[in-house]
Amino acid sequence: MKITLNPHAKDAATRDALVAEGGFGKYYTDHMVVCEWSEKDGWGEPELKPYGPISLDPATAVFHYGQEIFEGLKAYRQPDGSIALFRPDANAKRFAKSAARLALPEMPEVLFLETVDALLKQDGGWVPSKIGEALYIRPFMIATEVGLGVRPSNKALYMLIATPAGAYFDPSKAVSVWISTEYVRAALGGTGEAKCGGNYAASLVAQKAAAKEGCDQVVWIDAKERKWVEEMGGMNLYFVKGSRADATVVTPKLTGTLLPGITRDSILSVAKDLGYKTEEVMLSIDDWRDGVKSGEITEIFACGTAAVVSPVGQAKSAMGTWVTGDGQPGVITMQIRNALLAIQHGTAPDSHNWMSVVK
Ligand SMILES: *Cc1c(COP(=O)(O)O)cnc(C)c1O
Repeated sequence: MKITLNPHAKDAATRDALVAEGGFGKYYTDHMVVCEWSEKDGWGEPELKPYGPISLDPATAVFHYGQEIFEGLKAYRQPDGSIALFRPDANAKRFAKSAARLALPEMPEVLFLETVDALLKQDGGWVPSKIGEALYIRPFMIATEVGLGVRPSNKALYMLIATPAGAYFDPSKAVSVWISTEYVRAALGGTGEAKCGGNYAASLVAQKAAAKEGCDQVVWIDAKERKWVEEMGGMNLYFVKGSRADATVVTPKLTGTLLPGITRDSILSVAKDLGYKTEEVMLSIDDWRDGVKSGEITEIFACGTAAVVSPVGQAKSAMGTWVTGDGQPGVITMQIRNALLAIQHGTAPDSHNWMSVVK
C-alpha cells in the first residue's frame, strides 16, 4: 500500500466536532483509498491518499454507460475503544459478484479488506462512539476506459471513502410506503442482485412518485406477475406474524431480483437467536393487505446497513391504504434492532463471528 498523508488533515478537536454533528454523508474523512485496474496489468498497488476530487476525461465510460458498482459497510466503536467492522468479508464477496454482473474486474477479497483496514487505521478517529452511530464506508468502482464505444471497459478505478453516520433513527416515527405498480426495480436476468448505481438511477422516478403520494419510501413488487413484494427503496423488508414468543419473522425470498442484504441475512440469525421462527417466503400485496387487516401481520420493518432497522407503518397503493400497528415501532422490531446493534457495538457476544477488529 502506497501511503500519501493529507497535510491538511483535520485536527482532533475539529474532527470530533464534525463527528458530533451527526447526520449522514455531510463530511468525509481525511483520506481515501484508490486502486487502478487494467486488463493488461490487473490490479495495481492501492494508494491511501488525501480525500479530494478526481479528474477524468469527459469520454470516460462510466459517464456514458453507467458501468459502476458500490458497497456499504460500517465500522463500530467497541467498548474498549477499538474499532470493529461488521461482516466486511460479506461485502467483499458481494462486491465481486456485482463486479462480475457489470463486467467489471472482480477485486480479490484480501485486497478489498486491505483497503478498508488501511483507511480505518489512518482515519479511525472519525468512528463515532454513541450507540447507533458508526463510520459508514463506501467502496465503489467505475469503468475508466476513455471512449464512446459500447464495450466492457478495459480499465477500472476502485475507490474507498468514509463518512460518519449519526443515529438518525427516530423511534417515534414509522416509515410510510408507496407500493409502486407502475415502475419496477428489477427483472430476472437483470441487475437486481447487483449493487450498482444504475439500479438506483432507475428507481428515483418511483421515489418521486412515492413522495407525491405523501409517502417516505417506495416498495417494489416483482416485474413479472406484479404482485410479489420485493424490497423497500434500498432496503430489504421484514414482516412479523403473530406476537410474543409465538411470532414468526418473515422476509421475502431471494428470487434473483432482490438485493441480498447482509443485514437481511444477519436478522434471520438474530431472530432465531431470540427464539422466533423465521421464514423466507413469497409474500404478495394481497397477503400484506389481508394480513394487516386480519391482525396476523403485527409489525413490518425494513433493514439495511445505513439505518440498520426502520419500522414501516402505513402502506399505500393503487389498491388502497392500510396501516400496520399504531405508527410506533413494534416490540419485536425494536428487540431485533437492539440485539443487532449490541453485537455491532460489542456489548453482546459475537456468537456468529461477524465482527472483525481493526488491528
Ligand atoms: C444495499 C441494499 C440493501 C441492503 O443491503 P445491506 O447489505 O443490508 O446493507 C437492500 N436493497 C438494496 C436495493 C440495496 O442496494
